[in-house]
Amino acid sequence: METLATSVGTRDPVSASDPCTHPLLRWAELAEQVLAGTPMTREQGLQVVRSSDDELLALVQAASRVRRHHHDNRVRVHVLQNARSGTCPEDCSFCSQSVHFDAEVPQYRMQSIEELVAGAERAAAMGAATYCMVTSTRGPSEVELETVCEAVRRIKQRYDLQVCTSLGLLAEGQAERLAAAGVDRYNHNLESSERFFPELCTTHGFLDRWRTVEAARAAGLEACCGGILGMGEETEDWVDLALALRQLRVESVPVNFLDPRPGTPLGDRPRLTPQQCLRGLSMFRFALPEVDLRVAGGREANLGTLQPLALWIANSMFTDGYLTTPGAEPSDDARMIEQAGFVAVSVEAHG
Ligand code: SF4
Repeated sequence: METLATSVGTRDPVSASDPCTHPLLRWAELAEQVLAGTPMTREQGLQVVRSSDDELLALVQAASRVRRHHHDNRVRVHVLQNARSGTCPEDCSFCSQSVHFDAEVPQYRMQSIEELVAGAERAAAMGAATYCMVTSTRGPSEVELETVCEAVRRIKQRYDLQVCTSLGLLAEGQAERLAAAGVDRYNHNLESSERFFPELCTTHGFLDRWRTVEAARAAGLEACCGGILGMGEETEDWVDLALALRQLRVESVPVNFLDPRPGTPLGDRPRLTPQQCLRGLSMFRFALPEVDLRVAGGREANLGTLQPLALWIANSMFTDGYLTTPGAEPSDDARMIEQAGFVAVSVEAHG
């Protein structure tokens, strides 16, 4: 069987642009090429993630052209709800919620329908466009699935929020039940390239994740799928992840930057530099020009004072923290969006 890595590595029809071209022109030409409908090649992706700090602003400017063409100056704000925390039987080495590691995280079973609906109310009050319910699990039990479905039915009666769920690997028929309840999107990240994934997890494989994303799409759900940068992979793994997501035709891509969690196997990893983060994010924008590209977990810890620059590349972000780590205050994020000249997309409750 052809591997996914093989297929994404050989499918690009376009040769790389001349690496001798002046950086300002090289990145502007790449933006033109992508906007004209010719996909970024793997070689071009490698040039982006391996470019120098001297070229960074030219690179961000070019990625910004693509971002503005497809998303204008809008920022979609997403709010997460950790609907079930800790004690996950899987062993993803970056994750503090795995039962295999000694990380300190809150541990609780599935939240009630009322708690999930209350989370949506908070998200709407914060001006979020998307509310994401996430559980720490290999996959949803029957009770968990029905709890989420009933919560979604109630949320959809009250708010115009887009609803995303992230419940792990899906068994046959589960995606269809979520779609019927009103879920808009299903999140399941590939996390890294097919080559690197076995170094991250032994309890399930890259193809298990791939198949869940395909099942979600087949049920009519939008697919939200991304990964984490900075786990010890090579920059070529970033490019191969982006090309795999293009092959999966996902609508939404969260790009996380590892914020090492004490007690996990990756707890001692050094953080990425802000420049590395911005190069990675730019490459995802060129590879996936139209998607809802999200600067996600680890934004504050890895980008530091360069966080606002990510908005010139990504068109969406989380606010109010992440599953197990705090983030910036929603009011600080709102100020950053406004001061950078962008406009947050928000929703209203039904009358
Ligand atoms: S399946 Fe999800 S919650 Fe469980 S260890 Fe992996 S990343 Fe963490």
